[in-house]
Amino acid sequence: MIARTYNKGLLVVISGPSGTGKGTVCKRLLEKHPEIKLSISVTTRQPRKGEVEGKNYFFRTEQEFKQIMEEGGFLECAQVYDSYYGTPKKYVREQMNAGHDVILEIDIQGALKVKERFEEGVFIFILPPSMEELRKRITGRGTESEEAILKRFQSAYQELDFMNRYNYVVVNDEVEAAADRIAAIIQAEKCRVDRN
Ligand code: 5GP
Repeated sequence: MIARTYNKGLLVVISGPSGTGKGTVCKRLLEKHPEIKLSISVTTRQPRKGEVEGKNYFFRTEQEFKQIMEEGGFLECAQVYDSYYGTPKKYVREQMNAGHDVILEIDIQGALKVKERFEEGVFIFILPPSMEELRKRITGRGTESEEAILKRFQSAYQELDFMNRYNYVVVNDEVEAAADRIAAIIQAEKCRVDRN
């Protein structure tokens, strides 16, 4: 049997509206597949309780963030709500060149920017099982005001329109199943005849 060999890892972009649970799904995927690498983003937002520098994010000031941006250090960056977020270019490039698949768990604006530059990336949109469930999840965080919740819900609703710019859609009806579907997509991508 002739095995096809791939030198480079895949760039897998996972995004979707706020409240779809994409962070939880990615976490489960990485627990089950430790060989997959997660890109750690830089953000200007304050760490939440329990978040660890270099594990959840690299927490930086706006000035530091702008400097990285000016030096061309980001693969993409975007303002999400009141903070800035960016994907460090170096780590992604190094891991992919070493043959590792890399996950970017980023917002939709960022995903579309990456798509302009990396058509060959794998773009996965995470959907909530229903709008009712989405509303519950956004409300359930319990950390935000009524107004902030409504704003998040409205923007999540509008963001659904971007789904058709992605290659795959995964419904997060159950975390375990959603993580398994993403793993299956990654496997399938590696078997594609038209990928080199
Ligand atoms: P949170 O502050 O709740 O961790 O993340 C807020 C949003 O920012 C989420 O939708 C998350 O996916 C997105 N995000 C995290 N890192 C990045 C990044 O590097 N770039 C972009 N564009 N979005 C990001």
